[in-house]
Amino acid sequence: MSIQEKAIQEFREFFGGEPDELVRAPGRVNLIGEHTDYNGGFVLPMAINRSMVMAIRYRGDQKVKLMSADFHQTASFDLDDFSYQKPHWVEYIKGVAHNLKQRNLPLKGWEGVMMGDVPRGSGLSSSAALELAAAKAFSEVSNFPWDPVDMAVVGQEAENNWVGVNCGIMDQMISACGQEGHAYLLDCRSLEGKHVPLPEGVKVVILDTGTRRGLVDSAYNERRQQCEEAAAFFGVELLRDVEPETFFAKADALSELTRKRARHVITEDQRTLEAAEVMAAGNAERLGILMNESHDSLRDDFEVSNDALNEIVMLSRSEPGCLGARMTGAGFGGCAVALVRSESVEAFTKNVMAKYQRETVSEPAVYVTEATQGACRLEK
Ligand code: ADP
Ligand code: MG
Repeated sequence: MSIQEKAIQEFREFFGGEPDELVRAPGRVNLIGEHTDYNGGFVLPMAINRSMVMAIRYRGDQKVKLMSADFHQTASFDLDDFSYQKPHWVEYIKGVAHNLKQRNLPLKGWEGVMMGDVPRGSGLSSSAALELAAAKAFSEVSNFPWDPVDMAVVGQEAENNWVGVNCGIMDQMISACGQEGHAYLLDCRSLEGKHVPLPEGVKVVILDTGTRRGLVDSAYNERRQQCEEAAAFFGVELLRDVEPETFFAKADALSELTRKRARHVITEDQRTLEAAEVMAAGNAERLGILMNESHDSLRDDFEVSNDALNEIVMLSRSEPGCLGARMTGAGFGGCAVALVRSESVEAFTKNVMAKYQRETVSEPAVYVTEATQGACRLEK
């Protein structure tokens, strides 16, 4: 049974009767363009076939009542009067409601069952899926027009200002704007995006190392600061504006560490732009090579990989049919992503998982993915 069928069934059991609408928003994986977002640069994520689904029904009042089928928990709040309480999944939905209200959108109450199959906390952005599904639910019930870019910003603001997680805009943008069979080249400064078709005959495989990032905040802030230092050296606000030629001509004057950090960001932007081009031309081999180069740069220059990610990436690369593999997400744990020829996927996943052996905090896992549409209404 699909998660939407399950959500409808749970709705019948919990609320009684039928839901009026079914909405969905996907998780995502970033193919290339890592740690470029806060430097105003480029990313190339795709929306995956794992998502958050909500089966919802209009209410005549201002209440929002929710049942999380995954947590077997209920929560509710009143749209006229709500505040932050404590870390809990309902705060993502309140945060979305808060930011929609700030835009003077007239909100109406609803009740619904939510159910997701984006693994939580492994870097595939179950939180963005939740935010965009909630925004879509409000838009259906309250009947305001759906502007995907603005709704992505609403999701990001909810996460930044209400939930209190400092995330960039990539996750929400791809969860809102994804297109079936396509990745999305996003300019993180202008928020302009371009859909790029995935090459034929290959699959995007996500490998969860089962390791989770610890102490990531300080390392993340340190990287951001080093990037700012490098940008200031070149007299620009964001590293996005430093051309590779300028960088390599002057890089010697930077301290070694700052030089390495900046070199990653500047070359990663170039790789990401090229990746979109070769992808559109159907050149999967070159895309794989760029993914490999991205990983090596994240490992050696930006220094945000870990042993588990390096191991799973190297195991992936040694399998026949694997065109490229890299860590994906902020780093220090979480997932890798590999580009694998379709006919080799079965052997690839089996062999990599058999060879990958280490103590992990959660179960390692493999997801063979498809690129799907962004937040949408589903036919029941
Ligand atoms: P991720 O990398 O998956 O985005 P986060 O820590 O940012 O990890 O977000 C995970 C949080 O999002 C969970 O702790 C929970 O509050 C909320 N969430 C995600 N998926 C669900 C779900 N299926 N049901 C309820 N809450 C969810
Ligand atoms: Mg998240």
